[in-house]
Amino acid sequence: MDVQEVPRALSEALRRTMVSEEFKQRFGQTPTLWAQAPGRLDLMGSHTDYNECYVITMAIDRNTWMAARPRSDRKVLVRSLNMEGGGEFDLNDITHDTDSPWTDYIRGVAAVFQDEGYTLHGFDGLIHSTIPFGSGLSSSAAIEVVTATTLKMLAGNWEIEPVRLALLCQRAENEFVGMNCGVLDQYSSALGQTGHALLLDCRNLTARTATLHDDMRVAICDTRAERELTGSEYGERREQCEEGARRLADFYPAVTHLRDLTLEQFIAHEADLTEVVAKRCRFIIEENQRVLDLADALSADDRAAIRALTEVSYAGAHDLFGIGAPSMEAMMKAMRSGPGVVGARQTGAGFGGCMVAFVEAHAVDAFAQYVSTRYRAETAIEPEVYPVRAAVGAGPLDFSGKT
Ligand code: ADP
Ligand code: MG
Repeated sequence: MDVQEVPRALSEALRRTMVSEEFKQRFGQTPTLWAQAPGRLDLMGSHTDYNECYVITMAIDRNTWMAARPRSDRKVLVRSLNMEGGGEFDLNDITHDTDSPWTDYIRGVAAVFQDEGYTLHGFDGLIHSTIPFGSGLSSSAAIEVVTATTLKMLAGNWEIEPVRLALLCQRAENEFVGMNCGVLDQYSSALGQTGHALLLDCRNLTARTATLHDDMRVAICDTRAERELTGSEYGERREQCEEGARRLADFYPAVTHLRDLTLEQFIAHEADLTEVVAKRCRFIIEENQRVLDLADALSADDRAAIRALTEVSYAGAHDLFGIGAPSMEAMMKAMRSGPGVVGARQTGAGFGGCMVAFVEAHAVDAFAQYVSTRYRAETAIEPEVYPVRAAVGAGPLDFSGKT
């Protein structure tokens, strides 16, 4: 099947049949092992993770599947139903792939786990994902975590804590792929919980559940606008935050990350920073407090607080952190005025991509329709607006008992 023709939204049974048939076509036999890893979104706390702050994150019911079959040699053959090309490599000599760079996520995971002493087995693998790429829902973490889960299953299940698995996947993205991301994405994909968002402490990597009220839904509003990025923006924001923490450590020696500063301490030395670094730091320090406040507001179902916190979060991302985009502005306008909306903001790295709204459950369909129409009218871009549910983290897909 041509990549362009592969549907993203389809029932589990149809998806399984499609992947199974494609696997047979490509590898001559049926898969013997299935794994999944979900995408994720932050409900609040974008860019707080690498500052060792808090974030409210949620694994979602959009995920990446890997169908696999062990091989008797040490080769790995992978194909994806979402991307052209594929990869073939030997576990004894894992190199980068310039022809199909997407396979570097798989190669990177294999290389890091092997380096850490985990036993690896060769396999044929076919991937299918329902997560849009590059929209802030972490398809990259999902492909890494599903690869690690597959390798673990092929080896008869290594003893490994899910947090460690997430950290090693992050290392694969940092060191092999070359993207200096925090661990938030991999953590969420590995440790998501059905029905719950997680309030994650990115310093200690501990989490408690942040409960969403029964009659509230989370809706993803994907701007689907081309991002105008040079690729350096994420690293630049990160460096600015690090510079701020370094400068402020001159006044407060215990500071290693922005996490260690109260707003009062920051304000006392704001003038010692360059204007741009001060703005970045202020956003992170304020956003960190908002994350904690939002977790409380969600638990208490305090809708006025949810609205206020999400509004200020969006304004800060735009005005202080500089990660806005015209498409986000248009989407925010549409979301803010949608039926049943409780709160709305950006999610992920920013510069376009997905936004997120809290919506009253009864109004979700009307909200989706309204937001799509209004955003399309303003931008001439067809967005994608859909509710998501908090989903379980990565693991085997068990089809036993299902036809
Ligand atoms: P995000 O993580 O926000 O979706 P990234 O740029 O970090 O965006 O990762 C997207 C990249 O990950 C894709 O361009 C592709 O290289 C790789 N990728 C993710 N999922 C798949 C998949 N199912 N098949 C092939 N490549 C994938
Ligand atoms: Mg990514």
